[in-house]
Amino acid sequence: MLNIVIFGAPGSGKGTQSARIVEKYGLNHISTGDVLRAEIKNGTELGKTAKGYIDQGQLLPDELIIDILASVLDSFKESKGVIFDGFPRTIAQAEALKAMLKERKQEVSVMLDLEVPEDELMTRLIKRGQESGRADDNEETIKKRLTVYHSQTSPLIDWYKADGKYQHINGLGTMDGIFGDIVASIEKL
Ligand code: ADP
Repeated sequence: MLNIVIFGAPGSGKGTQSARIVEKYGLNHISTGDVLRAEIKNGTELGKTAKGYIDQGQLLPDELIIDILASVLDSFKESKGVIFDGFPRTIAQAEALKAMLKERKQEVSVMLDLEVPEDELMTRLIKRGQESGRADDNEETIKKRLTVYHSQTSPLIDWYKADGKYQHINGLGTMDGIFGDIVASIEKL
């Protein structure tokens, strides 16, 4: 089982690299952001709740997102492993993930931290907003998301270091170059 947490600030390239990891290793992919955007698109109650938080650049409450994660995880049968993209985003979520995997006699294999300088993140997200029309990719909400990342999510770097799972990846460069570094880290496991 290869269970990978792909980690990084908004705009660090988690989604792009996850897709390539999925293709190469045949893993299941959970992107909590994609799950929530699908709920919003379908107009569900969960979608309505999620939209309130996402448009403000805030995180959903831990209990809510942990329940969502657990149900997606249970839907995977005969899995070779999972890539977790956008989860965990708080220490409570990381602890919940550890417990959930332990119940299934599994664990996180590695946490890949895609590091990208802040000015580059801003540039990428503003461009993505212009191209995709993603509602939370506007300058004001991006700034809030980056603040939330620094206060609530980046403490996970030390948490995963202490757990012995941390792996730094330079998120600046070509998509192929970054993917090459990711593959090298995975092959070392
Ligand atoms: P990005 O990493 O580019 O900000 P995502 O698509 O991963 O975007 O997430 C978009 C939004 O969905 C987040 O800003 C947050 O509001 C919500 N969200 C996604 N994952 C989580 C999570 N694990 N916990 C709480 N909220 C989440």
